Amino acid sequence: MRVLIGGGSGFVGRELTCLLKNKGHEVTIISRQPGLGKITWGELESGGLPPCEAAVNLSGENLMNPLRWWNEGYRKDLFSSRVDTTTILSQAIAGSPSPPHAWVLVTGVACYKPSLTAQYTEDSEWTPFDLLSRLVKEWEWAGRLPENIAQNTRQVVIRPGVVLGRDGGAMKQMMTPFWLGLGGTLGSGRQPFPWIHVSDLAGIIAHALVPFPDTPSSAVPQVFNGVAPALNTNYEFTKELGRVLRRPTVFPVPGFVIEALMGSERAIVLTQGQKVEPKRTLESGFQYQYPDLSSALKEIVGR
Ligand code: NDP
Repeated sequence: MRVLIGGGSGFVGRELTCLLKNKGHEVTIISRQPGLGKITWGELESGGLPPCEAAVNLSGENLMNPLRWWNEGYRKDLFSSRVDTTTILSQAIAGSPSPPHAWVLVTGVACYKPSLTAQYTEDSEWTPFDLLSRLVKEWEWAGRLPENIAQNTRQVVIRPGVVLGRDGGAMKQMMTPFWLGLGGTLGSGRQPFPWIHVSDLAGIIAHALVPFPDTPSSAVPQVFNGVAPALNTNYEFTKELGRVLRRPTVFPVPGFVIEALMGSERAIVLTQGQKVEPKRTLESGFQYQYPDLSSALKEIVGR
């Protein structure tokens, strides 16, 4: 199968590319930079969709970029890097004489309202309530294909929690303070911490590229929550990481400090959280390699 991956050069994209190539598939990356095995977004817009059987979009300015101050320019980049790339790719699919059979958009769990008690599945109703949930709404809307195309191209949306892996994402930023014994809970620590190991997220994306028997074509995308089935809190994550690293975790970071450093709109990702169940992901037969924190963190830390 030939797979086109927007943002395939990033943290999740590298893992997915590796997995697909190991399964014998061909990968072409869509990037801002030209290069071997890549096309640029400009080339996609002007030249149309290259021949492919599946397309994925993973593009997006990093929400947790510690080098960027939370301001209007950053917020604009967060939106345009996701919504504009998704629009370009979905329009290229819709305009293609031979559209792919699968179109997978990876968004996030920020659409579900943070709560200590509510539990969400893919079937949960939601309406935007803050900046990040509005982003998810616009992003997923940009990915929608016209009905006549959706009859032959299966649309899938995967909503991951915090992606944990050795080579990028949140762990890259957390490892040093935790190694130094300076790690601790964030905010109250009681907030849910939806997470997934990067290998499992790549696995769910690859799983979504293959047609599921008995799934009728639909104008509405099929949603899969890209989270581990274990429902953990930030406290449990912090203690387990400390245990695996054999380091103390006695330095909690108060919520107001995180908000002052990151801006309250994005601090929500760390200081609040959602209990998200991967109900449809499990029902579809996907088998997790790392269903619990202990196995995931041991693999990442390398013990
Ligand atoms: P990365 O931060 O690694 O970025 C992925 C790619 O996006 C980059 O390699 C880059 O490709 C492209 N990109 C970055 N900035 C811009 C920009 N300003 N404009 C256009 N393209 C840009 O992302 P991840 O691999 O960590 O995540 C993949 C997707 O999953 C993202 O959409 C993210 O929002 C979502 N997600 C990630 C989570 C996580 O914890 N990592 C959690 C929940 C959702 P290039 O330089 O080649 O153009």
